[in-house]
Amino acid sequence: MELRSQVPEGPIERKWEKHRFEMKLVNPANKRKHTILVVGSGLAGASTAASLAELGYNVKCYCYQDSPRRAHSIAAQGGINAAKNYQNDGDSVFRLFYDTVKGGDYRSREGNVYRLAELSVEIIDQCVAQGVPFAREYGGMLANRSFGGAQVSRTFYARGQTGQQLLLGAYQALERQIGLGKVEMFSRHEMLDLVLVDGKARGIVTRDMVSGEIESHAGDAVVLGTGGYGNVFYLATYAKGANATAIWRAYKKGAAFANPCFTQIHPTCIPVTGEHQSKLTLMSESLRNDGRIWVPKKAKDPRPPNQIPEGDRDYYLERQYPSFGNLVPRDVASRAAKRVADEGRGVGPGGFGVYLDFADAIQRLGASVIGEKYGNLFEMYERITAENPYQVPMRIYPAIHYTMGGLWVDYNLMSTVPGLHVIGEANFSDHGANRLGASALMQGLADGYFVMPYTIGHYLASNKIDKVATEHSAFKQAEAGVAQRVRTLLGIGGPRSVDSFHRELGRIMWEDCGMARNEAGLKTALEKIPALREQFWREAKVPGENEELNQSLEKAGRVADFLELGELICLDALERRESCGGHFREEFQTPDGEARRDDENFCHVAAWEYAGPGQKPIRHVEPLSFEYVHPSQRSYK
Ligand SMILES: Cc1cc2nc3c(=O)[nH]c(=O)nc-3n(C[C@H](O)[C@H](O)[C@H](O)COP(=O)(O)OP(=O)(O)OC[C@H]3O[C@@H](n4cnc5c(N)ncnc54)[C@H](O)[C@@H]3O)c2cc1C
Repeated sequence: MELRSQVPEGPIERKWEKHRFEMKLVNPANKRKHTILVVGSGLAGASTAASLAELGYNVKCYCYQDSPRRAHSIAAQGGINAAKNYQNDGDSVFRLFYDTVKGGDYRSREGNVYRLAELSVEIIDQCVAQGVPFAREYGGMLANRSFGGAQVSRTFYARGQTGQQLLLGAYQALERQIGLGKVEMFSRHEMLDLVLVDGKARGIVTRDMVSGEIESHAGDAVVLGTGGYGNVFYLATYAKGANATAIWRAYKKGAAFANPCFTQIHPTCIPVTGEHQSKLTLMSESLRNDGRIWVPKKAKDPRPPNQIPEGDRDYYLERQYPSFGNLVPRDVASRAAKRVADEGRGVGPGGFGVYLDFADAIQRLGASVIGEKYGNLFEMYERITAENPYQVPMRIYPAIHYTMGGLWVDYNLMSTVPGLHVIGEANFSDHGANRLGASALMQGLADGYFVMPYTIGHYLASNKIDKVATEHSAFKQAEAGVAQRVRTLLGIGGPRSVDSFHRELGRIMWEDCGMARNEAGLKTALEKIPALREQFWREAKVPGENEELNQSLEKAGRVADFLELGELICLDALERRESCGGHFREEFQTPDGEARRDDENFCHVAAWEYAGPGQKPIRHVEPLSFEYVHPSQRSYK
């Protein structure tokens, strides 16, 4: 397998412009002869589908929800970054690029990240033109707030519902094309396999989630915008339906999986309260603009927070990282929370919590200003915990939130399977080992509105793509495989719920491959996961039929894939014998407990190739070089 990044030569600020000129174009009259399959209608998928249709391509778009408008992107709260420098506080495209490369702990590709920073400014213009109601200053200018890992204010937001507003923009653009007949929308269709003809991605097999019908769809190229795989940990901030099935099936058809162990743990989530829980809730990073994080100085301090005087509090982020304070990047803030909890200074049930306190901000700005900025988040917190954050500090703790790993893509966002493009959270390209806050929305929309429209055309114009019909044997084989798998799942007939397998997998992943990882733990996980998987195929209970709406069946298929992916994540974490970003190997840390990279041996992307059932996957590397942002020990002090 060859990993050719295809990053163009030349100065970084000219690469994308030069590439755009050099890429081949499809003549407008020929665009309508091509059909592109876009799987996913989140920010990445919807923006791609709408943009390609607007250009004249025929698009088929798929999602498993009842409406594209319900994609998980709708949950995004805090905001979207862009180097507009509206605040006149020293921002620039280069600074956003620099912050992102540094924030990712020097494990991303410079060329891709620079392009992302460059396109960020265009995204805001596009979304404003669509009518996205970004927050504004009194004078009418768009407002900004700060996010972790940056010393400038560059995050555009719509209260605590930025994802929802951006998705409405993309959804309207998509609906317009649906109305014009250029996009055919397949809601409640789950992609269960990728179809290759002559080595190229030429279609997918889906299951109609209402009727159970298994169908093939052919096209000239396939785009996956199917989101992240963090639900492999069971407890996560993702929507419950978020899954890895599409990218996992593509991996099994030859798409390399890059850096699977790079998962993000977000520092500000509502802590776990007990075994009954099936989901965790994020409290947006934006809250760290005004909230101050602290724990009692004394271990196991029994006093309620409001009775602990200033002198007995440890504002540990402000103390340890005076330059960035509460706005250190997520990996740094999460590890710091774990450290204080390990010292016995955590708060709330089990000691797995730290305070996020708004008392100072409320005193300084007034409760109404705080309410305007974060009102919906405060309300959500109160509904879940029955505590009023205007009166008592929130309790927060790190939780799984995002996956930086994903299918390997080149500069054109094409995977190792010709014709298969991967966008948004489903690919690995821009965030290295740690994603900075407010940059996932930026990436998904950059991919969809501004990269795919060019690179898909280049692929179509540079390759001979014969027409292929779903009668082709490759489709028939894939359909038969999907049908067989469905039958096998329904036929297991065991006593144990699929959810209990998922929960157990999640526990293994969190304990052995979560916030802190070590060789012994990872090796244990690599023994436990295959055993659990084997048990799943013997003992899982999947009730119901295929020919109906069967959520148990849907879940079983997804959990079966997680049981394989979990193993790859642990293997990747074991082989990466260094700490970087969110991948914290306890054996590799600085004296003050920060991640210690090994640039000599691990300054690369690890991309895994599927080697067949029961075979160890093959690890390939794409070396990373840094010409503009030189790797150093990350410091936020
Ligand atoms: C609570 C929360 C808050 C966040 N806040 C922010 C924020 O403020 N700023 C920020 O930048 N990022 C934020 N993020 C991250 C960001 O929201 C996501 O990374 C981003 O929205 C992912 O977009 P996407 O288009 O790649 O995927 P998604 O929005 O997850 O969409 C995936 C799409 O793929 C479809 N799909 C998946 N599998 C299949 C299949 N097999 N067959 C058919 N369809 C399939 C789904 O139906 C869906 O349409 C947040 C994340 C969470 C969990």
